[in-house]
Amino acid sequence: MLEPGQARDVARRLQQRADELREQIRGKLGEAADSVLAADHQWSDAGAASAEAGLEYAEAQREILELRQILQALTRVEEGVYGTCVDCGVAIPAARLAAQPAALTCVSCQSQRERRGHVPAAA
Ligand SMILES: [Zn+2]
Repeated sequence: MLEPGQARDVARRLQQRADELREQIRGKLGEAADSVLAADHQWSDAGAASAEAGLEYAEAQREILELRQILQALTRVEEGVYGTCVDCGVAIPAARLAAQPAALTCVSCQSQRERRGHVPAAA
């Protein structure tokens, strides 16, 4: 479990990264970013929501996934459960969190997710 000071640091790092990502996504998608960033947005209508096809859009999509993961990590900081694996509940090693502050799973659950074809936990 994090000390209050550590939690503030982590939250600040995550928040900064989230702001960066929002800017990058807006830069790529323009006004379409707002609908794509909406919490209930489904990827099936993403194509229609964006006039930007191709590489830019694929990059934006990766950034959006990362942003969502960061927001999820921030929620977990607020709930006081940051740093535990969302799948199995073990403490995620500090070194992994230092490298990937938005990591939601331990390494072994992450590789299981990847085998099942889920989206990787972090860039
Ligand atoms: Zn796990």
